[in-house]
Amino acid sequence: MEEIKKLTYSINTVILLLVFGLASFFALCHATFLIWFSIPTAMVYLVGYYLIRTERLAFYVRLVYFWITLYMCITTICLGYRFGFHLYCLSMIPIIFYTEYMAKKLGRQNINTILVSGIIVVCYLISTGYASYAKPVYDIDSKIAGIFWVFNSGVVLFFLIFYSGVMLKMITASENQLTDMAHTDRLTGLYNRHFMITKLETTLKEDKSQFIAMADIDHFKKINDTYGHNTGDYVLENVARIMKEVCKDCEISRWGGEEFVILSDGEADKDGVALLEKLRKAIESEDFFFEDQHIKVTITAGIASANDHTSVDLWVNDADEKLYFGKNNGRNRVVLINEGAN
Ligand code: GH3
Ligand code: MG
Ligand code: MG
Repeated sequence: MEEIKKLTYSINTVILLLVFGLASFFALCHATFLIWFSIPTAMVYLVGYYLIRTERLAFYVRLVYFWITLYMCITTICLGYRFGFHLYCLSMIPIIFYTEYMAKKLGRQNINTILVSGIIVVCYLISTGYASYAKPVYDIDSKIAGIFWVFNSGVVLFFLIFYSGVMLKMITASENQLTDMAHTDRLTGLYNRHFMITKLETTLKEDKSQFIAMADIDHFKKINDTYGHNTGDYVLENVARIMKEVCKDCEISRWGGEEFVILSDGEADKDGVALLEKLRKAIESEDFFFEDQHIKVTITAGIASANDHTSVDLWVNDADEKLYFGKNNGRNRVVLINEGAN
């Protein structure tokens, strides 16, 4: 919200400075009505500061749209369309859609973009249509009109480019945020299973030594049953933290409840066993404290090399079977070879 307010303050200031600049020009050209009209126009933008400060942005936006449209029509009728004031409506339309996007994002009251755009288009057609047939109220030198045409076109193009840029930045940021959320497990901040599967699929296509470890917290149900679900969550978060600390170059995912899949470069028998032993010992030696309760945690893990497998399912099953063997043979251990298999 603060960022939007800052942006709106800046735009309000730019428009107000433009109003003063144009009022001075109208004074030079003795365009009396336009000089007087500049007074309520400046008032609108001065009131605008108050509206922005008190976060009445919906009202501010409606007021500004109404006034710019009125200003565009009056200046076009008084000076003719050679001055290019009617071009301002071209920059207003994308801004209206940008406002709708922001209002939706912030869950705020919205304006009817199609209706407002339609009204602006009608005002544009009426004022430029009128200016094409009738002589302008103030007959000002066409060289000055040419300078204004260039200046007003420049301002309109600047707004178009600026707002398109802001819009693109916002959409990209929001897309990145959604992608991160779609790939991440909320509790632990690790990758989720869905994203890890796509990573494993890519990994299998690569021609280098890689392995996975399927790690599972031992007797986790007992931790939940003894200390409560919140303690269980706390343990999960901290086991994930230790995994990130110990396996810095690995891709780590929460595969399910209290099961994790770790993917790393290296040979399963050397690097894999060393890494998982280091992790197992780090978790075993950690003293978990939650609400004055002291909890000890261990994990069991099964390791499987990528080289031996043609599909992610087979690869994960291999690690899972080794984990199962570890669970049935004492827990708190790392298994590379499934001695129970035929
Ligand atoms: P084992 O050593 O054989 O792995 O036994 P275990 O108790 O760890 O395994 P089991 O599959 O029997 O129990 C897993 C428990 O994990 C059951 C489930 O309620 C709990 N669990 C799953 N997801 C969450 C979670 O997000 N938070 C908490 N607190 N508990 C969870
Ligand atoms: Mg378990
Ligand atoms: Mg489990």
